[in-house]
Amino acid sequence: MSDIRLTGITKRYTRHAAPAVDDVSVTVRDGEFFVLLGPSGCGKTTLLRTIAGLEQADAGTVHLGDRDVTGLPPRRRDIAMVFQGYAVFPHLTVAENIGFGLAMRKAPKQEIAEAVEYAAGLVRLDDVLDRYPSALSGGQRQRVAVARAVAVRPSVLLMDEPLSNLDALLRLSFRSDLKALAKELNTTIVYVTHDQVEALSLGDRVAVMRAGEIVQCGTPMEVYDRPATRFVGGFLGTPPMNLLPVRRAQDGWTAAGEPFAVPEEHADRVGDELWAGIRAENIEPSTTEVPGALPARVRLVEPLGSQLLVSVTVGDESVKLLTPTDFPAGDDSRLWLRVPPERVRWFDPASERALDGTDRAGTDRAGAAVSSG
Ligand code: ATP
Repeated sequence: MSDIRLTGITKRYTRHAAPAVDDVSVTVRDGEFFVLLGPSGCGKTTLLRTIAGLEQADAGTVHLGDRDVTGLPPRRRDIAMVFQGYAVFPHLTVAENIGFGLAMRKAPKQEIAEAVEYAAGLVRLDDVLDRYPSALSGGQRQRVAVARAVAVRPSVLLMDEPLSNLDALLRLSFRSDLKALAKELNTTIVYVTHDQVEALSLGDRVAVMRAGEIVQCGTPMEVYDRPATRFVGGFLGTPPMNLLPVRRAQDGWTAAGEPFAVPEEHADRVGDELWAGIRAENIEPSTTEVPGALPARVRLVEPLGSQLLVSVTVGDESVKLLTPTDFPAGDDSRLWLRVPPERVRWFDPASERALDGTDRAGTDRAGAAVSSG
């Protein structure tokens, strides 16, 4: 069993500053590809390094399977780590780099050779084993770093932004490679990134972090479709989720002065304002008037290749929508926007939390892991 159980992890680097990681409890399941996602400085790396044993938490415990490893040094945790940038040894060949971890453990030559062959095969480096890193591309060097981590067959593999030094095209192909590799390895993987596309495409589950806390943890579709807070809705998605203030008026609710239906169960729970969270791709635009649709004016049309990103105003509110490329949205033209009620995510402006109770699924401050997804 290689599940990772974090309970009440808190880490403070300086006494008076806010904690880098603040009372985080979460369980990463055996064999899972688990992604820590969040903006710069939110504590992802600190949490990863705490799992590795490279940082000691001020409070909380780390369990790997049934072992409490909280006080153990990194080498006794059966963990391998791939860092940002490709830290390969320039004076060793690809094969020697990949076998480095096993050689350090004084493994028999035959075992090292087999492990190198296995790991190199997984990352498609079989035909460059005798080369030195200087004769490799950036993508190949990064694959050496991954193969070196994989060669020791760790029960847990930790990766910190391993794709960040690669150009866009390499990132894309390496991302697919990593996903295939994870399936093949069946190792528990914790992967840190601030790139939401990477997180959604790689993770079995994604934990979204902000200011040292996990704000939501769920499958990629859960965190994308059902963000627990306004922050998650805004952090995931290109463009971010639209937020439309919906206010109580004399005879019902309105958005930008137009009638807008609010489900009864929410209307009863909050004050005079709600936020309707609407994904750009869920808005149905029409160039002719549709009863009940929001009237809008086109401000900007940006072709994205496969779609158009159309920025409009609805009254004083700015809204972005995605349309097929042949949609006739001219600058300054009028549109009517239908918003399917079942696609609206409602938020309470006071707490900025979603109104349906989806809340930190998969984590629990008291320490017990809650299953989700
Ligand atoms: P990034 O994506 O930029 O790497 P991150 O989410 O991984 O960010 P951390 O590196 O974990 O964030 O940092 C969390 C907070 O802790 C930040 O405010 C950072 O400045 C602070 N911090 C990190 N390492 C140290 C350190 N060694 N000493 C003091 N403060 C630190």
